[in-house]
Amino acid sequence: MKKPIIGIDIGGTTVKTGIIDNDGNILDKWEIPTNRTNCGESIVSDIWKSLTERLDQNEMPKESVEGIGIGAPGFIDSDTGHVFEAVNIGWKNMPLSEELRAISKLPVFVTNDANAAVLGENWKGAGGNVKNLFALTLGTGVGGGIIVNGNILNGESGMAGEIGHTTVEPDGVLCNCGRRGCLETIASATGMVRQAKMKIEQHSESLLVSRYNASGNITAKDIFELANDGDVPCKDIIAYTADVLGMAISNAATLINPSKVLIGGGVSAAGEEFIQLIEDAFRNYSLARVSGICELKLAQLGNDAGIIGAAFLVKNKLQNIKF
Ligand SMILES: [Zn+2]
Repeated sequence: MKKPIIGIDIGGTTVKTGIIDNDGNILDKWEIPTNRTNCGESIVSDIWKSLTERLDQNEMPKESVEGIGIGAPGFIDSDTGHVFEAVNIGWKNMPLSEELRAISKLPVFVTNDANAAVLGENWKGAGGNVKNLFALTLGTGVGGGIIVNGNILNGESGMAGEIGHTTVEPDGVLCNCGRRGCLETIASATGMVRQAKMKIEQHSESLLVSRYNASGNITAKDIFELANDGDVPCKDIIAYTADVLGMAISNAATLINPSKVLIGGGVSAAGEEFIQLIEDAFRNYSLARVSGICELKLAQLGNDAGIIGAAFLVKNKLQNIKF
Protein backbone atom coordinates (compact mmCIF):
# COMPACT_ATOMS: atom_id res chain seq x y z
CA MET A 1 0.00 0.00 0.00
CA LYS A 2 1.26 3.44 -0.86
CA LYS A 3 2.03 5.79 1.99
CA PRO A 4 -0.40 8.52 3.09
CA ILE A 5 0.49 12.17 2.51
CA ILE A 6 0.03 15.23 4.70
CA GLY A 7 -1.73 18.19 3.07
CA ILE A 8 -1.63 21.57 4.83
CA ASP A 9 -3.48 24.76 3.96
CA ILE A 10 -2.18 27.79 5.85
CA GLY A 11 -4.66 30.65 6.05
CA GLY A 12 -4.84 33.95 7.93
CA THR A 13 -7.25 32.56 10.54
CA THR A 14 -6.71 28.79 10.61
CA VAL A 15 -4.25 26.16 9.47
CA LYS A 16 -6.11 23.20 7.98
CA THR A 17 -4.32 19.86 7.89
CA GLY A 18 -5.33 16.52 6.40
CA ILE A 19 -3.94 13.02 6.30
CA ILE A 20 -4.69 12.05 2.72
CA ASP A 21 -4.28 8.65 1.10
CA ASN A 22 -2.51 8.22 -2.23
CA ASP A 23 -5.84 8.31 -4.09
CA GLY A 24 -6.79 11.68 -2.62
CA ASN A 25 -9.23 10.49 0.05
CA ILE A 26 -9.16 12.33 3.35
CA LEU A 27 -8.37 9.89 6.18
CA ASP A 28 -8.41 12.54 8.90
CA LYS A 29 -8.53 16.34 8.97
CA TRP A 30 -8.48 19.08 11.57
CA GLU A 31 -7.63 22.74 11.98
CA ILE A 32 -5.72 24.87 14.44
CA PRO A 33 -5.77 28.66 14.82
CA THR A 34 -3.06 30.58 12.96
CA ASN A 35 -0.97 32.27 15.64
CA ARG A 36 0.08 35.53 14.01
CA THR A 37 1.84 37.00 17.06
CA ASN A 38 5.54 37.86 16.67
CA CYS A 39 5.31 37.72 12.87
CA GLY A 40 3.85 34.21 12.96
CA GLU A 41 7.05 32.73 14.41
CA SER A 42 5.32 29.79 16.15
CA ILE A 43 3.19 28.67 13.18
CA VAL A 44 5.59 25.97 11.98
CA SER A 45 6.09 24.46 15.45
CA ASP A 46 2.31 24.65 16.09
CA ILE A 47 1.73 22.72 12.85
CA TRP A 48 4.27 20.06 13.74
CA LYS A 49 2.94 19.68 17.29
CA SER A 50 -0.66 19.15 16.15
CA LEU A 51 0.49 16.84 13.35
CA THR A 52 2.54 14.55 15.60
CA GLU A 53 -0.36 14.34 18.09
CA ARG A 54 -2.76 13.43 15.33
CA LEU A 55 -0.45 10.85 13.76
CA ASP A 56 -0.10 9.26 17.21
CA GLN A 57 -3.88 9.13 17.62
CA ASN A 58 -4.14 7.43 14.22
CA GLU A 59 -1.32 5.06 15.17
CA MET A 60 0.69 6.20 12.21
CA PRO A 61 4.44 6.44 12.77
CA LYS A 62 6.03 9.47 11.15
CA GLU A 63 7.97 7.13 8.85
CA SER A 64 4.72 5.86 7.34
CA VAL A 65 4.13 9.30 5.77
CA GLU A 66 5.36 9.96 2.24
CA GLY A 67 5.78 13.69 2.60
CA ILE A 68 4.19 17.02 3.49
CA GLY A 69 2.63 19.40 0.98
CA ILE A 70 1.71 22.97 1.91
CA GLY A 71 -0.38 25.69 0.35
CA ALA A 72 0.63 29.01 1.89
CA PRO A 73 -0.48 32.59 1.26
CA GLY A 74 1.76 35.28 -0.16
CA PHE A 75 4.69 35.41 -2.55
CA ILE A 76 6.48 32.06 -2.65
CA ASP A 77 9.40 30.47 -4.46
CA SER A 78 7.90 27.03 -4.97
CA ASP A 79 11.25 25.51 -6.00
CA THR A 80 12.75 26.24 -2.58
CA GLY A 81 9.60 26.60 -0.45
CA HIS A 82 10.73 30.06 0.62
CA VAL A 83 7.97 32.55 1.49
CA PHE A 84 9.15 36.05 0.59
CA GLU A 85 6.19 37.77 2.17
CA ALA A 86 2.79 36.75 3.49
CA VAL A 87 1.25 39.95 4.79
CA ASN A 88 -1.86 38.47 6.41
CA ILE A 89 0.08 36.07 8.64
CA GLY A 90 3.10 38.27 9.26
CA TRP A 91 5.81 36.25 7.53
CA LYS A 92 8.71 37.94 5.81
CA ASN A 93 11.56 35.87 4.35
CA MET A 94 10.31 32.68 5.94
CA PRO A 95 12.18 29.49 4.89
CA LEU A 96 9.02 27.40 5.29
CA SER A 97 10.14 24.15 3.61
CA GLU A 98 13.51 24.27 5.31
CA GLU A 99 12.07 24.78 8.80
CA LEU A 100 9.44 22.08 8.55
CA ARG A 101 11.88 19.66 6.91
CA ALA A 102 14.36 20.25 9.74
CA ILE A 103 11.89 19.31 12.49
CA SER A 104 9.93 16.62 10.63
CA LYS A 105 12.80 14.95 8.69
CA LEU A 106 10.21 14.43 5.92
CA PRO A 107 10.14 15.77 2.35
CA VAL A 108 8.28 19.12 2.30
CA PHE A 109 6.93 20.97 -0.74
CA VAL A 110 5.25 24.38 -0.84
CA THR A 111 3.11 26.24 -3.35
CA ASN A 112 0.79 29.19 -2.94
CA ASP A 113 -2.66 28.56 -1.52
CA ALA A 114 -4.49 29.37 -4.76
CA ASN A 115 -2.38 26.87 -6.70
CA ALA A 116 -2.92 24.19 -4.06
CA ALA A 117 -6.69 24.67 -4.34
CA VAL A 118 -6.51 24.35 -8.13
CA LEU A 119 -4.51 21.11 -7.87
CA GLY A 120 -7.08 19.75 -5.41
CA GLU A 121 -10.04 20.67 -7.61
CA ASN A 122 -8.46 19.06 -10.63
CA TRP A 123 -7.55 15.88 -8.76
CA LYS A 124 -10.71 15.20 -6.77
CA GLY A 125 -13.16 18.00 -7.60
CA ALA A 126 -14.72 19.62 -10.66
CA GLY A 127 -11.57 19.48 -12.79
CA GLY A 128 -11.56 15.77 -13.51
CA ASN A 129 -7.79 15.47 -14.07
CA VAL A 130 -7.64 17.56 -17.23
CA LYS A 131 -4.30 18.71 -18.66
CA ASN A 132 -5.17 22.36 -19.23
CA LEU A 133 -7.30 24.21 -16.73
CA PHE A 134 -7.87 27.68 -15.40
CA ALA A 135 -9.49 28.28 -12.03
CA LEU A 136 -10.48 31.46 -10.32
CA THR A 137 -11.63 32.17 -6.80
CA LEU A 138 -14.05 34.96 -6.05
CA GLY A 139 -13.84 35.86 -2.38
CA THR A 140 -12.60 38.88 -0.47
CA GLY A 141 -10.09 39.05 -3.30
CA VAL A 142 -9.89 37.43 -6.72
CA GLY A 143 -7.33 34.63 -7.07
CA GLY A 144 -6.47 32.26 -9.86
CA GLY A 145 -4.36 29.32 -10.86
CA ILE A 146 -3.34 27.62 -14.07
CA ILE A 147 -2.63 24.00 -14.91
CA VAL A 148 -0.89 23.67 -18.23
CA ASN A 149 0.33 20.42 -19.80
CA GLY A 150 -0.57 18.66 -16.54
CA ASN A 151 1.50 20.85 -14.22
CA ILE A 152 0.72 23.89 -12.14
CA LEU A 153 2.16 27.01 -13.76
CA ASN A 154 4.18 29.09 -11.28
CA GLY A 155 5.89 31.54 -13.63
CA GLU A 156 9.27 33.19 -13.10
CA SER A 157 8.35 34.86 -9.82
CA GLY A 158 5.37 32.83 -8.65
CA MET A 159 2.80 35.22 -10.10
CA ALA A 160 1.26 33.09 -12.85
CA GLY A 161 -2.53 32.98 -12.75
CA GLU A 162 -2.98 36.16 -10.70
CA ILE A 163 -6.00 37.24 -12.72
CA GLY A 164 -7.23 39.44 -9.85
CA HIS A 165 -4.51 41.94 -10.70
CA THR A 166 -5.09 42.18 -14.42
CA THR A 167 -6.24 45.67 -15.37
CA VAL A 168 -9.85 45.95 -16.48
CA GLU A 169 -10.46 49.68 -15.86
CA PRO A 170 -7.38 51.79 -16.67
CA ASP A 171 -8.73 54.76 -14.71
CA GLY A 172 -10.38 52.63 -12.05
CA VAL A 173 -10.08 52.77 -8.30
CA LEU A 174 -6.96 51.96 -6.29
CA CYS A 175 -6.30 48.25 -5.66
CA ASN A 176 -4.55 46.67 -2.63
CA CYS A 177 -1.57 46.07 -4.91
CA GLY A 178 -1.08 49.82 -5.37
CA ARG A 179 -2.25 49.92 -8.98
CA ARG A 180 -5.57 51.02 -10.42
CA GLY A 181 -8.55 49.23 -11.90
CA CYS A 182 -7.56 45.62 -11.23
CA LEU A 183 -10.25 42.94 -11.69
CA GLU A 184 -10.22 42.51 -7.91
CA THR A 185 -11.50 46.09 -7.41
CA ILE A 186 -14.72 45.03 -9.18
CA ALA A 187 -15.29 41.29 -8.98
CA SER A 188 -14.38 40.49 -5.36
CA ALA A 189 -16.90 40.73 -2.52
CA THR A 190 -15.14 43.94 -1.46
CA GLY A 191 -15.24 45.24 -5.03
CA MET A 192 -18.97 44.63 -5.32
CA VAL A 193 -19.60 46.39 -2.02
CA ARG A 194 -17.54 49.33 -3.26
CA GLN A 195 -19.68 49.50 -6.40
CA ALA A 196 -22.79 49.44 -4.21
CA LYS A 197 -21.54 52.36 -2.13
CA MET A 198 -21.05 54.40 -5.30
CA LYS A 199 -24.61 53.54 -6.39
CA ILE A 200 -25.92 54.64 -2.99
CA GLU A 201 -24.43 58.07 -3.57
CA GLN A 202 -26.05 58.25 -7.03
CA HIS A 203 -29.52 56.88 -6.25
CA SER A 204 -31.61 58.58 -3.60
CA GLU A 205 -34.34 55.94 -3.76
CA SER A 206 -33.82 52.22 -4.16
CA LEU A 207 -34.04 49.05 -2.10
CA LEU A 208 -30.27 49.30 -1.85
CA VAL A 209 -30.44 52.75 -0.25
CA SER A 210 -33.17 51.60 2.16
CA ARG A 211 -31.14 48.53 3.18
CA TYR A 212 -28.06 50.67 3.70
CA ASN A 213 -29.95 53.28 5.73
CA ALA A 214 -31.52 50.56 7.89
CA SER A 215 -28.35 48.62 8.70
CA GLY A 216 -25.56 51.14 8.05
CA ASN A 217 -23.76 48.56 5.98
CA ILE A 218 -23.97 46.56 2.74
CA THR A 219 -22.54 43.12 2.02
CA ALA A 220 -22.11 41.19 -1.23
CA LYS A 221 -24.91 38.91 -0.01
CA ASP A 222 -27.23 41.95 0.30
CA ILE A 223 -26.47 42.89 -3.30
CA PHE A 224 -27.52 39.46 -4.60
CA GLU A 225 -30.62 39.40 -2.38
CA LEU A 226 -31.76 42.86 -3.42
CA ALA A 227 -31.16 42.09 -7.10
CA ASN A 228 -33.44 39.06 -6.67
CA ASP A 229 -36.06 41.44 -5.23
CA GLY A 230 -35.79 43.53 -8.41
CA ASP A 231 -33.55 46.37 -7.22
CA VAL A 232 -32.16 48.01 -10.37
CA PRO A 233 -28.83 49.35 -9.00
CA CYS A 234 -28.01 45.89 -7.59
CA LYS A 235 -28.99 44.18 -10.83
CA ASP A 236 -26.69 46.61 -12.65
CA ILE A 237 -23.78 45.81 -10.32
CA ILE A 238 -24.23 42.08 -10.91
CA ALA A 239 -24.57 42.49 -14.67
CA TYR A 240 -21.46 44.68 -14.87
CA THR A 241 -19.43 42.39 -12.57
CA ALA A 242 -20.40 39.30 -14.57
CA ASP A 243 -19.54 41.04 -17.83
CA VAL A 244 -16.09 42.14 -16.63
CA LEU A 245 -15.43 38.66 -15.21
CA GLY A 246 -16.52 36.99 -18.45
CA MET A 247 -14.18 39.26 -20.39
CA ALA A 248 -11.25 38.57 -18.05
CA ILE A 249 -11.90 34.81 -18.19
CA SER A 250 -12.13 34.96 -21.96
CA ASN A 251 -8.77 36.74 -22.15
CA ALA A 252 -7.18 34.16 -19.86
CA ALA A 253 -8.79 31.29 -21.78
CA THR A 254 -7.50 32.65 -25.07
CA LEU A 255 -3.94 32.52 -23.68
CA ILE A 256 -4.24 29.10 -22.04
CA ASN A 257 -6.81 27.32 -24.24
CA PRO A 258 -8.08 25.19 -21.32
CA SER A 259 -10.70 22.44 -21.45
CA LYS A 260 -12.15 23.66 -18.17
CA VAL A 261 -12.57 26.92 -16.30
CA LEU A 262 -13.54 26.48 -12.65
CA ILE A 263 -15.09 29.20 -10.52
CA GLY A 264 -14.94 28.92 -6.73
CA GLY A 265 -14.95 31.04 -3.58
CA GLY A 266 -17.70 32.63 -1.50
CA VAL A 267 -19.07 34.92 -4.22
CA SER A 268 -19.47 31.98 -6.61
CA ALA A 269 -22.05 30.54 -4.18
CA ALA A 270 -24.34 33.47 -5.05
CA GLY A 271 -26.40 31.41 -7.42
CA GLU A 272 -26.72 29.91 -10.85
CA GLU A 273 -28.01 33.08 -12.40
CA PHE A 274 -24.75 34.92 -11.65
CA ILE A 275 -22.65 32.05 -13.00
CA GLN A 276 -24.85 31.95 -16.11
CA LEU A 277 -24.28 35.68 -16.69
CA ILE A 278 -20.51 35.13 -16.37
CA GLU A 279 -20.68 32.22 -18.77
CA ASP A 280 -22.73 34.23 -21.30
CA ALA A 281 -20.15 37.02 -21.21
CA PHE A 282 -17.28 34.53 -21.47
CA ARG A 283 -18.84 32.91 -24.56
CA ASN A 284 -19.62 36.32 -26.01
CA TYR A 285 -16.02 37.55 -25.73
CA SER A 286 -14.28 34.31 -26.74
CA LEU A 287 -13.08 32.92 -30.03
CA ALA A 288 -15.26 29.99 -31.07
CA ARG A 289 -12.33 27.54 -31.01
CA VAL A 290 -11.46 28.61 -27.46
CA SER A 291 -15.04 28.68 -26.18
CA GLY A 292 -16.14 25.52 -28.00
CA ILE A 293 -13.67 23.24 -26.24
CA CYS A 294 -14.04 24.85 -22.83
CA GLU A 295 -16.49 23.95 -20.10
CA LEU A 296 -17.18 26.45 -17.32
CA LYS A 297 -17.99 24.81 -13.99
CA LEU A 298 -18.36 25.60 -10.31
CA ALA A 299 -15.61 24.30 -8.03
CA GLN A 300 -16.80 21.45 -5.80
CA LEU A 301 -14.43 20.86 -2.90
CA GLY A 302 -14.86 24.08 -0.93
CA ASN A 303 -12.47 24.26 2.02
CA ASP A 304 -10.97 20.83 1.38
CA ALA A 305 -9.46 21.78 -1.99
CA GLY A 306 -6.30 23.23 -0.40
CA ILE A 307 -5.31 20.21 1.70
CA ILE A 308 -6.10 17.74 -1.10
CA GLY A 309 -4.12 19.80 -3.62
CA ALA A 310 -1.20 20.18 -1.21
CA ALA A 311 -1.11 16.37 -1.00
CA PHE A 312 -1.18 16.13 -4.79
CA LEU A 313 1.85 18.43 -4.90
CA VAL A 314 3.82 15.76 -2.99
CA LYS A 315 2.78 13.11 -5.54
CA ASN A 316 3.73 15.48 -8.33
CA LYS A 317 7.19 16.11 -6.86
CA LEU A 318 8.06 12.65 -5.49
CA GLN A 319 6.25 10.31 -7.89
CA ASN A 320 6.41 12.65 -10.90
CA ILE A 321 2.60 12.31 -11.29
CA LYS A 322 1.05 14.81 -13.70
CA PHE A 323 -2.55 15.25 -14.73
ZN1 LIG B 1 -4.28 44.91 -8.02
